[in-house]
Amino acid sequence: MTLAHGRDHLAIPGPSVIPSRVLGAMHRPAPNIYGGALVDMTESIYRDLATLAGSRHEPLIYIGNGHAAWEASLVNVLSRGDGLLGLVTGRFGLGWAKMAEELGARCDYLDFGTRSGVDAAELEATLRADHAHAIKAVSTVLSDTSSGVRNDIPAIRAAIDAAAHPALLMVDAICSFACEPFDMDASGVDVMVTGCQKGLMTPPGLAFVFVGDRALEARASADLVTPYWDWVPRREPTMLPERFCGTPPTHHLFGLREAIDMLLEESIDKVWLRHETLAEAVWAAVDCWGASDDARIGCHVPDKARRSHAVTTVMTAPGDAQRVRDCCEAATGVTLGIGFAVDDSAPDAVFRIGHMGHLNPPMLLGTLASIEAALLSLGIAHGRGAVDAAADVIARYQESGTR
Ligand SMILES: *Cc1c(COP(=O)(O)O)cnc(C)c1O
Repeated sequence: MTLAHGRDHLAIPGPSVIPSRVLGAMHRPAPNIYGGALVDMTESIYRDLATLAGSRHEPLIYIGNGHAAWEASLVNVLSRGDGLLGLVTGRFGLGWAKMAEELGARCDYLDFGTRSGVDAAELEATLRADHAHAIKAVSTVLSDTSSGVRNDIPAIRAAIDAAAHPALLMVDAICSFACEPFDMDASGVDVMVTGCQKGLMTPPGLAFVFVGDRALEARASADLVTPYWDWVPRREPTMLPERFCGTPPTHHLFGLREAIDMLLEESIDKVWLRHETLAEAVWAAVDCWGASDDARIGCHVPDKARRSHAVTTVMTAPGDAQRVRDCCEAATGVTLGIGFAVDDSAPDAVFRIGHMGHLNPPMLLGTLASIEAALLSLGIAHGRGAVDAAADVIARYQESGTR
């Protein structure tokens, strides 16, 4: 039996829900790409993205997804045979470093598992042992979307500095940008990559690379660079198409402009606080489900300080996660994120709740209540009161303006 006749809700960790305002802004005739409103508007997007990232430098914008941003960043800083140290806290941290290896870098990996984030002391020791400074760059993710772990970027920077190592710090903030606090220049980040389809609430198709001064210097000697991905011509355009090495993504830019307006109207600090509050509401609910003696459900990352504010990875008994996802989709119209195998759990024991971007309490509470209905109807053991617990978190925010 299904009650899923209404607006479906996509609760996967990207792409995220697209606001009606963004869809509306994209619904327009094709513009001129050589002059006029599109050109001025696009310049304002570069400026506002730099502000949102806490960067002095405007980003590069590519037509592409997150993987495009990965490649666009790597080929502009690395040469064949350069060392890259990949910090692995899940599938995405691993994937970015693997891409560097396939491009011709020499990669080493520090694998921290999927539950606790990067250990800065171990990173520092590894860098201290690299006397020859063979490691050109360290890559990491802010939040790893597979495990739901959130890394402490300033602590990673501090470890590199403590080792007095010149490696560039490259950060994947694809699921975190405009969801969790991030301040590029203040955190000493040399390269940050993100995309438009998660916190930026725009249909997949735009990739962003933010570049600091030291990364720009590295570009001068990077021999992996190819014409389409090259930062240099895109940074010094004489006409708008040069910024994109061809036709600009016209309608995506109109959509993104609207999405950025929405973020600026709310203010980025409030956007971060909203995500933190909604994440806390999710954790309160999951903790309740796990609180009965026979329950086998819980958050994958034990320490709240290390949990992503954009996605929560939930572990169940084998098969249960798959059944919950199928039931939610069919019976209530809520699509949850698939699980990736984490540690020794099979994918069917993992589901993910995306809570990024265009999301408010009714959307989130509806998702949590739908999961609870699935647990009940499937006869999966769980503790009760989860939706109450989530509502408590939201009520506390309303009363105090904080969590
Ligand atoms: C979504 C995501 C990616 C991949 O982005 P695509 O658009 O699927 O290529 C990479 N890293 C992180 C952290 C992500 O959340």
